[in-house]
Amino acid sequence: MPTSIHTQRPGRASASARVRPRGLAARLGFILLLCALLSLGQVRSPRAETFPLDFTTIRLGAAPRAVLVVGGIQGDEPGGFSAATLIATRYEIAEGAVWVVPNLNFPSIIRRSRGLHGDMNRKFARLAESDPEFATVRRIQELICHPEVGLVLNLHDGSGYYRPRHEDRLRNPARWGQSVIIDQDALGPDTFMGALAEEADAVAREANSRLIRPLHALHVHNTHTAAGDREMEKSLSYYAVRHGKAAFGLEASKEFPVELRAYYHLLMVEAFLKRAGVRFRRDFELTPAGVAGALRENLGVSFAGNRVFLPLEDARPAISYLPLPKNSPARAITSKPIMAVLPCEGKGDRLCVHYGNRTITLIRPDWREVDASLDAMTVQVDGREETVPFGSILDVREAATVRPRPGYRVNAIGMDCGKADESGIALRRKDFQPRFSVDRGARLFRVEVYKDKRFSGMFLLRFGGGGATARRAPLPDRPGPETSLGF
Ligand SMILES: [Zn+2]
Repeated sequence: MPTSIHTQRPGRASASARVRPRGLAARLGFILLLCALLSLGQVRSPRAETFPLDFTTIRLGAAPRAVLVVGGIQGDEPGGFSAATLIATRYEIAEGAVWVVPNLNFPSIIRRSRGLHGDMNRKFARLAESDPEFATVRRIQELICHPEVGLVLNLHDGSGYYRPRHEDRLRNPARWGQSVIIDQDALGPDTFMGALAEEADAVAREANSRLIRPLHALHVHNTHTAAGDREMEKSLSYYAVRHGKAAFGLEASKEFPVELRAYYHLLMVEAFLKRAGVRFRRDFELTPAGVAGALRENLGVSFAGNRVFLPLEDARPAISYLPLPKNSPARAITSKPIMAVLPCEGKGDRLCVHYGNRTITLIRPDWREVDASLDAMTVQVDGREETVPFGSILDVREAATVRPRPGYRVNAIGMDCGKADESGIALRRKDFQPRFSVDRGARLFRVEVYKDKRFSGMFLLRFGGGGATARRAPLPDRPGPETSLGF
């Protein structure tokens, strides 16, 4: 039976003592999962042949006119899809509407490839029905043509720095980085934001007031597509223009690390939103450091209806013998729309957790029947008693003791007291072998509960006080083109 793994968006984990993806059901209302089924093609495992990876449309705000922001049309341009992900997850729209597709070419994002089936951004003029991406392109075309969409922003990462005149190898008219791209000067006079050149100029000017270095200056690049640019004719933005919608290509530079690319994308997108009359709030600071932090935060995945939740900001490269439901699709819920859980290529039964272009951890599942008779355990923690739901994190200063429950067996992973059931025993950090922790910092340990051989649920103990678990975050540690690093 094919395993289908959908990625969706839980809310941000709260910073309280117990953390779990919050408000998931409510937030799913914002998500329109478009049913363009994509095949990952070569994925093979005993459990699955193909894996649908649909793109996600996240609708923020409510208004008769929406701004459509698209990221990830090419899978190797993380600045664009990371920025779009931040808009989808960290912005609140107070006035107006923003629809975000952060992961248009999701299979290519996961594979760190420009395109698994050629360049998707050249498929908007003509496309054979036999093309593996036909359904995806049709769905995004429908979205672009949706009567409520009034402005289309397509986020890219381009090489070098576009300059209208040749300056040097990296700064010349053949480069695409750091530019606002338009297909022509203007659309009809009645078109919303149809004065494309003026709008692009104004946006570039505003973004240029916050450059990190003068070298990064943004320029407007008019490709004069209708005058015979055979390549740009096939692009998503020209498709929008042909259908009477104002559309812009936004390019950050591949010379930058991902957070700087996303920083410039967000500067441009915010300038466009303001000009489109959208009012918004963002819950992080718009600086390269603020963007880097926001990209590192809230990485998590849950399984089995949140009976298993793993925070992954500081995950070990592998998590072994994680109990996951047997005989039912291993549905994973991820905290970000550019995350996916898929069988690892060539590694049989293992699951890889992907975040954009990177694989952040590998899971070796222990496939189990699920027992649904219990949702929480009672735990004595640092002298007080707590009900601890499965899928949550319990902060522990000194010790936690799971109260015994007849018929159930507790297994604290990495702690061996010689008994089959580890309930009723004070669990302290020093009792755990560090290599069994979920995190690299050896603070997070799994407590699993079983009924006979069936798995009931799991929660985590977090030793050493609250606060960030992101000791070593999954972002590149040096700047540069993403080809070697993924990000
Ligand atoms: Zn691109």
